[in-house]
Amino acid sequence: MTCHSAIDRIFEGDRSFSFLVRLRVRWHLLHCSRCAASAAVLEAAQTMMQTGFFPPAPAMEEAVMEVIRREALDPGDVPMEIADPPEAVSFRSWVIAGLIILISLSSAFIGLDFAEVAEKGGSSFLIPVGLTVGLAVSIYGALLIGTHLKELSGRFGLR
Ligand SMILES: [Zn+2]
Repeated sequence: MTCHSAIDRIFEGDRSFSFLVRLRVRWHLLHCSRCAASAAVLEAAQTMMQTGFFPPAPAMEEAVMEVIRREALDPGDVPMEIADPPEAVSFRSWVIAGLIILISLSSAFIGLDFAEVAEKGGSSFLIPVGLTVGLAVSIYGALLIGTHLKELSGRFGLR
């Protein structure tokens, strides 16, 4: 019997095999210290599982139902509506941020002979530049509109 088949039979359990096979496994374990060690570890693990080494998990169901019952009785604690976030950034800061973006975008090309570089680089220069400028402007616009939705819709009579 090889080590591989011996280990296979040990893991499958003694009872499912004939007496002869069990005898051969025992015989292998007498001669092979590696398989004997594996068998000992497996046996120890099996004993541990059978004797309730692991404490039983607490019943989840009862705890969950208790929370649901409590919330059903007292719905006042549960916030039904998320309050408006406090306006952390004033409109003036938005204007300043917009100006900074504009200045940095335009000043990025000062000192750069834009026309010459654009001529040389062609679309491989103009496309990334256009994407960067467009992305910066549209992110700024989206943030500005998103955070000032109430004011803007009031101002333009959309409500
Ligand atoms: Zn072996």
